[in-house]
Amino acid sequence: MELQHTIRKAVACRGVGLHTGTPVAMTLHRAPADHGVPFPLPPSGVEVPVRPESLLNGHYATTIGTEGTQVQTVEHLLAAVRALGIDNVLVELDAAELPAMDGSAAPFVSLLYAAGREGQPAARRPLWVTDVIRVGDEARWLQISPAAELRISYTLDIDHPVVGVQVVSIAPTEERFVDELASARTYGFLKDLELLRQQGLALGGSLESAVVLGSESVLNGALRFRDEFVRHKILDVIGDLALLGHPVIGHVMARNGGHALNHMLVREIARRARPAHDGVARAVSHAVTRSEGGARHPSSLGGVAAL
Ligand SMILES: [Zn+2]
Repeated sequence: MELQHTIRKAVACRGVGLHTGTPVAMTLHRAPADHGVPFPLPPSGVEVPVRPESLLNGHYATTIGTEGTQVQTVEHLLAAVRALGIDNVLVELDAAELPAMDGSAAPFVSLLYAAGREGQPAARRPLWVTDVIRVGDEARWLQISPAAELRISYTLDIDHPVVGVQVVSIAPTEERFVDELASARTYGFLKDLELLRQQGLALGGSLESAVVLGSESVLNGALRFRDEFVRHKILDVIGDLALLGHPVIGHVMARNGGHALNHMLVREIARRARPAHDGVARAVSHAVTRSEGGARHPSSLGGVAAL
């Protein structure tokens, strides 16, 4: 049995929101077992929980909200929190978007390591995928299938001289996340920037917070990995899957996805998830399906069982 974890002490950082351009201070606090990752937002203090029902928008970032309040660009922090095995942490902000930092999850990894980790007297309850779930179309899709561990295999295929076809398959253990994914930065195309700003997006974007691509080359220095772009796409998947509120066990395969598709997959996994059942794993979904539908069709059960 794996225990849930929180952080050992509160830690803080400040920065600027990538899309809103608003200065923001963020403090991470300890949280009790089974509390998840709530965002109490000013001025009301209403807590936005990290759950599929909180997903609002996948337009260039992940926005979550509840009761008329929302917070933007949660995915890079959530990726670091999940990959470092932290289940419960309260995220206090004084604005409605997380700090962009350098456009990657590496600054959040450093912050979480500074906070330390502490086990809690409650079991972690991963979601085990028990059948293939697929979203998207021929050109852009994600699917998750049963596996013994979380693995993400991603193909990014963009007709651009610096990007091209990039393929990475990785089981994101803490060590591999920190070494091979966390520092991969978000990216954008200069030609899209004006349009994004007309839509009120990328107002805080700068050469310090994203890889900026011109028509032929990167406009702001060296890449951190030759295939930094696909590594960042995997980082985004990890952050968006964290919206399930539990670790998920399965093999994600993806081609040219994005936040909107990630959110569709999260909703579909959540829709098929079965309630936790005192440590009874995959059999849970079978038992529940039998009681729901009469005839039993194991090959089409489709879904997820909570441990
Ligand atoms: Zn991202």
